[in-house]
Amino acid sequence: MLTRKQVAIEAVIKATKLCQKVQAEMVSSDTIQKKDKSPVTIADFGSQAIICKEIENAFPEDIVVGEEDANSLRSNTDLLDRVVDNVRSTVSDNILPRQVCDWIDRGSGDIGVSYWTLDPIDGTKGFLRKDQYAIALAWIENGIVELGVLGCPNLPHQLNGNSSEIGSLFVAVRGEGTSLHTLNGQFVKKIDISDSVLCLAESFESTHGDSDTHALIAEKLGLDSPPVQIDSQAKYGIVARGEASLYIRLPNPASPDYRECIWDHAAGMLVVEEAAGIVTDAHGKELNFLTGRRMTNNRGIIATTKSLHPKVLTILSENSL
Ligand code: AMP
Ligand code: MG
Repeated sequence: MLTRKQVAIEAVIKATKLCQKVQAEMVSSDTIQKKDKSPVTIADFGSQAIICKEIENAFPEDIVVGEEDANSLRSNTDLLDRVVDNVRSTVSDNILPRQVCDWIDRGSGDIGVSYWTLDPIDGTKGFLRKDQYAIALAWIENGIVELGVLGCPNLPHQLNGNSSEIGSLFVAVRGEGTSLHTLNGQFVKKIDISDSVLCLAESFESTHGDSDTHALIAEKLGLDSPPVQIDSQAKYGIVARGEASLYIRLPNPASPDYRECIWDHAAGMLVVEEAAGIVTDAHGKELNFLTGRRMTNNRGIIATTKSLHPKVLTILSENSL
């Protein structure tokens, strides 16, 4: 029998292939706006369908809490046809539209003590810019993130190095460390965080954080290289690989009560923790994955090294942040 780790890696690899194909061939009608005005593409739906199908085949009882659902697809046959075409070319020609919608809706589970959480495309805005995005899948058991897999199709194996290999897959298992793989699943190396890199990572989207305060913290910590601004949980990957010393995400002043979604952080958190880093909210509290689809008891994110973490908390409290 396959393990959850094997299933998760295989599922993310398949979804990655679908996303790469869609990104290469995308037309404007492949994207719609959700009620909250955020974009969703045929790749978000296709990726969720494939991953939920793989989980259902191997672990039919498992709950999946994913970002998307098939409601808007069931009433938009043109869009559904485009999703189905892409799922067929990745999985099998014999797939029916109804099956694709059902797989997507397998991801509408309610949070229990143990569940998968999935962001089929984290950083959809980056995906649309043909920039960074991630397929993020985590297994949470008794409230603890035990497994995290992040597929980052456009992330090179080294941010500023001479490696020409594009496409990074991060695999973290609690107690076993974090490793970097190719997009085909081939092991590259174990990775570890580093605090000798003088820069922080933050979202590319300025409305998703508080870049002025992030800059103040960087200055006080002596992180004087320009920040790495990229979309998605790829930020956790580059911190885990020692290419930035801190990923910080404070609520944007325009939305001070914003609470983070579980699927935006579960996999990335374990990738950093198992690379010997630490991840908490901006008050230093552990992230709580049992409060619902949003982490209502947590505010903001700090992912960094064990030596920088107390310093970040001190700066935040000294500045009443
Ligand atoms: P990133 O690329 O790191 O900015 O992360 C993308 C994620 O940001 C999306 O999946 C959204 O769930 C989330 N997001 C959307 N609006 C906001 C906001 N106002 N503040 C923080 N995160 C947000
Ligand atoms: Mg997301």
